[in-house]
Amino acid sequence: METFTDILSAITPVSGETRTIFDPATGETVGEAPVHDIGDLERAIAAATAAQPAWAALGHDARSAALLKAADAVERSAEELARLLSREQGKPLNGPNARFEVGACAAWLRATAATPLDPETVVDDGESYAELHYKPIGVVGAIGPWNWPMMITVWQIAPALRMGNAVVVKASEYTPLSVLALVKVLNEELPEGLLTVVSGGREVGARLAEHPAIGKVMFTGSTATGKAIIKSSAGTVKRLTLELGGNDAGIVLPDADPKAIAEDLFWGAFINTGQTCAALKRLYVHEDIYDDVCEALTAVAAAMPMGVGLDEANVLGPLQNKQQFDIVSRLVDAAKGAGARVLVGGNPEAGQPGYFYPTTLVADIDNDNPLVAEEQFGPALPIIRYSTVDEAVAMANGLDVGLGASVWSSDPTEARKVAARIEAGTVWINKHGAVDPRIPFGGAKQSGYGLEFGVEGLKALGVPQVING
Ligand code: NAD
Repeated sequence: METFTDILSAITPVSGETRTIFDPATGETVGEAPVHDIGDLERAIAAATAAQPAWAALGHDARSAALLKAADAVERSAEELARLLSREQGKPLNGPNARFEVGACAAWLRATAATPLDPETVVDDGESYAELHYKPIGVVGAIGPWNWPMMITVWQIAPALRMGNAVVVKASEYTPLSVLALVKVLNEELPEGLLTVVSGGREVGARLAEHPAIGKVMFTGSTATGKAIIKSSAGTVKRLTLELGGNDAGIVLPDADPKAIAEDLFWGAFINTGQTCAALKRLYVHEDIYDDVCEALTAVAAAMPMGVGLDEANVLGPLQNKQQFDIVSRLVDAAKGAGARVLVGGNPEAGQPGYFYPTTLVADIDNDNPLVAEEQFGPALPIIRYSTVDEAVAMANGLDVGLGASVWSSDPTEARKVAARIEAGTVWINKHGAVDPRIPFGGAKQSGYGLEFGVEGLKALGVPQVING
């Protein structure tokens, strides 16, 4: 097995310039990340362009076989990757965190390799005959965030590679080492130049999004950056899949059992310490069971240890960066300032190393409070009281984003009826945020467009071609 140091030392800076990456839990140095510039990006795109035709010519079976070997490579280095991810991103090794994320990388590679995609006969009536095929796009750009840096990179690159494309990844400037290490491991099993990663700033991402040699951009990140990418991709009419920000609502119906759902509600909101696109970010609870749900959630929250990720006892970690810590602090302060009731947390300890914000539950809060209306992307959940289901649905649909949502009830049939009224790409019943490589995932409204995962996810990485006649 490679060691953590081996993985990092093998990443040679191209331009020579490097940037020190610090552990968000301790402030200690994790390693040096190369600072790639536009010239490095051009070299990566040229290498990808050269490698792509031979890869496309291999066909689906051979490419799927390579993805399965890449999954094996991830599993061989799993513990080292998880330790690096934990130190750079902050998420604990244990719980649904770093080891879980590395495991998901292997699982998504395998599932993407196993998804069948055959040409479809769309008309065959004796007079007309038409088939629908999906051909490689060419070179795909993948631009990702810092919250699940390895898993989201695999979500973007696995279907792109499977469909016969080469990929240039632009890692988040907050978590470059995790993505560099992951790509190095994947490249043990892939042809040279096919998959490269550039570790640069926003300007490198912006150039990738406008570059004439890039046929498609897979983007996961904020809605603001998604809008910038739409603009910069316009000149070349690039294909885009945009997985953007969310502010997911959960609606607890009056017949739900507070104690039975409390732990799943908790992880729906606090997975990755709340730094998850499709986490539960606003919880609407019927007035009949409001106090019981608050009590049950508080009991679960109080029992979940937060701390340095390499300590096996911890299941919650720090915020990944100061900017995010400041956003969460500002929003909780806004709630407190408006007279909302803090059930637990809400007071970060001053003078401690790391960007730790305590697990925070806020009750008796108005729907228009900034902690409800804005995406907190951290460990602070507002719990809003409602009287009628119509009112809850209206509040859930009241924002301009719609990534995920959830309905919690003892009656799944009733819950599905409410789910159908919610404007979101996915509505989960009695769970929140559970993604599956076989099930399409994407946003409604300003949470983005395009689907990832499953056969729809593969089709999104191909150019449809109709053979008519
Ligand atoms: P961000 O938009 O700030 O950055 C994402 C990436 O875009 C980074 O690599 C950055 O360098 C790059 N970038 C910045 N400006 C660019 C430009 N003009 N052109 C091209 N690339 C550019 O997002 P973030 O802060 O890293 O991530 C947090 C956000 O991402 C949250 O809003 C969260 O909800 C969202 N997110 C969404 C999903 C999803 O699947 N929908 C998943 C994870 C995170």
